[in-house]
Amino acid sequence: MSQRKTRILIVEDEPAHAQVLQRNLLASDTVTVELVISIAQYVEAISVLSPDIVLLDLNLPDGSAIELLNNVEIEWPVLIMTAQGNEELAVAALKAGALDYIVKSPESFAAIPRIVERSLREWNILQERQQAEEQAEGARREWETTFNAMSDVVTIHDRQMRIVRANKAAYQLTCALPGTLIGERCCEALWTESAVCVECSRAKAIRNGTPYSETVTHRRSGKVFEITTTPFPADSEEDYYIQIAKDVTTRIEYEKQLQHQATHDHLTGLANRMMLEDRLGQAIKQAQRSNRLVAILLLDLDRFKNVNDGYGHATGDELLCLVAARLKLAVRQTDTVARLGGDEFVVMLTNVADLETVQTITAAILKSLAKPYQIRGRNFNLTASVGGSIYPHDGSEGPNLIRNADIAMYQSKKQGNHFSYYSEAMNRHVVASLEMENDLHQALAFDELCLHYQPKVDLTTGRIAGCEALLRWNHPRQGMVSPGMFIPLAEQTGLIVPIGAWVLKEACRQSVAWQAQGLPPIPMAVNLSARQFRQGDLAATVRTELQRHRLDPGMLELELTESMIMEHADRASSILHELKHLGVSLSLDDFGTGYSSLNYLRRFPVDCLKIDQSFICDVTTDPSGASVVTSIIDIAHNLQLTAIAEGVETRDQLDFLVANQCDAMQGYLFSKPLPAAQFSQLLREGVCLNDLLYVT
Ligand code: C2E
Ligand code: MG
Ligand code: MG
Repeated sequence: MSQRKTRILIVEDEPAHAQVLQRNLLASDTVTVELVISIAQYVEAISVLSPDIVLLDLNLPDGSAIELLNNVEIEWPVLIMTAQGNEELAVAALKAGALDYIVKSPESFAAIPRIVERSLREWNILQERQQAEEQAEGARREWETTFNAMSDVVTIHDRQMRIVRANKAAYQLTCALPGTLIGERCCEALWTESAVCVECSRAKAIRNGTPYSETVTHRRSGKVFEITTTPFPADSEEDYYIQIAKDVTTRIEYEKQLQHQATHDHLTGLANRMMLEDRLGQAIKQAQRSNRLVAILLLDLDRFKNVNDGYGHATGDELLCLVAARLKLAVRQTDTVARLGGDEFVVMLTNVADLETVQTITAAILKSLAKPYQIRGRNFNLTASVGGSIYPHDGSEGPNLIRNADIAMYQSKKQGNHFSYYSEAMNRHVVASLEMENDLHQALAFDELCLHYQPKVDLTTGRIAGCEALLRWNHPRQGMVSPGMFIPLAEQTGLIVPIGAWVLKEACRQSVAWQAQGLPPIPMAVNLSARQFRQGDLAATVRTELQRHRLDPGMLELELTESMIMEHADRASSILHELKHLGVSLSLDDFGTGYSSLNYLRRFPVDCLKIDQSFICDVTTDPSGASVVTSIIDIAHNLQLTAIAEGVETRDQLDFLVANQCDAMQGYLFSKPLPAAQFSQLLREGVCLNDLLYVT
């Protein structure tokens, strides 16, 4: 490949000079030479020639080289050729952009190829340098733009931590005029009043050899910045530091919000269980040091479900918020009020001196909760059951204390107190019922359940007119367990549903078996639990059993309590009608102990009221007890229902009932509940009340 020739343009009006130059240059075959003799010709030729170098005579017939250089963009090296004595003008030409000048002489003409060659080299070096400078300038501008465009506050500091550069955001933050931050000390200029100590950050950055970050609030703007100080540039000999302050206000806010959500109850804004446990842990540690007590009061609102069911969840929620607010007001700022969920709250009292203090605060809480609540013009009354556990008496760890307060709360509920303390005895009771729950699961499978039957006696004939099936559990270790011990547990755990189904089936089977033995047919009464009544399709279950055993529906009686049917009166009414439709009879058990509305009673298709034994027990001793009994008998008769007295134990009680036209009785006076064989014996013998009384 042939090398590209160097294109040389000579601008010379003196033919002799031009000739010598041409000749000398063309001695080398690596060049081409063009000649023009005036500025006009130069201007015309230059666009097509594009030379590598121009040899330009200083004075041309149509003007001077200086004028030309001043007016035209020079993209190639220009060597000015001048006569002896014109050096000053030549210098002016250099200023106008010429690369160099040569004084015309035979020697310089002879050396012209070398001069051209050297000039070209020099030009190249100049070009490269210029390019590098341009690139550096571009990079600097780009850096400057980025620096200023950054939303973070960025400052560069010298060793004394004086600001040498500050970006736009720094000026915006401080409201300083452009340029005025330079030379200022960073702490004072930027972070005055804030707890940032840039000196310290710098020291730490130097010590660690890594960037150092800290967070902190800029008081005037209220923003939170995360400031990182880094030696800059990393390998610089000089001590410069770049400090980048990132606005993390939103992130911090968000973190706070998340933290709050994770530790608070969303409805009431109270602490949640997680936060309670955390604070309780701290309180216990503190109490260990100070020899003080920590009290956990677990509150459960009584019958709160009725509010939700009756007035809707929105009202329920509002009520919970009002309760939360009252609880907060009732305790000190240092105490914690938490909501565990539903209608369950916990108050944690810290740094408590003695149990009296706990009692006083509890009383104040209960009093404040008992005041009426107003929601949209409607008044609500609430009570709460509270269980208390005390550190260190009732546990040394938070979760234990909460659990024990829960146990105590259940005790309160059960006993109808408002407040109970946890105690070991209570705990033993809970453990025992847990064991019983386990055993109860097996009772059905291992055939440990059986029914006893108690006669119901017609008070006009004195004869057995029916019987009530009462459940017994033949516990492998504890012997015969009465239903009062396990029915509530079965109810709580849901086991009552299969157990109840078994009772119904067994009672039907027994009734049919007695009839098959030729015994006089009498109605068999079966107790139903609230859960059986609520859950599943009761009428269908009853129908199935009647059909399975071919039992006359008139021979089956179901005993329900007032509270069971009053709780959801409308639904209850339709279930009762369905049952009634099957042909079975219905009695209201323990009548008088619950809340009855005569209006509902009228609408429910019941046949019989069973006067609770607590009234019968007092009937001869307490006139008000007696009047309750006579009233119930009257109500029953007015509604065309029969009245039966439960738990009749004495002759006096019986006489009272007979005198007041009570229809039937049930009680130890006649017979205790008996196993099937003994009961059938009684039935077979046709034992009559008068015979028994006569014998006694
Ligand atoms: P209840 O239905 O009111 O049954 C009457 C309770 O009074 C029975 O107690 C009976 O033994 C007792 N009793 C009868 N006569 C007298 C008396 O003259 N004096 C005294 N002091 N008590 C008398 P029991 O068998 O312990 O049953 C207690 C409760 O357990 C029953 O009260 C009933 O509510 C429930 N229960 C019994 N069996 C079942 C069942 O199969 N299913 C359901 N859901 N509950 C049952
Ligand atoms: Mg009963
Ligand atoms: Mg009863």
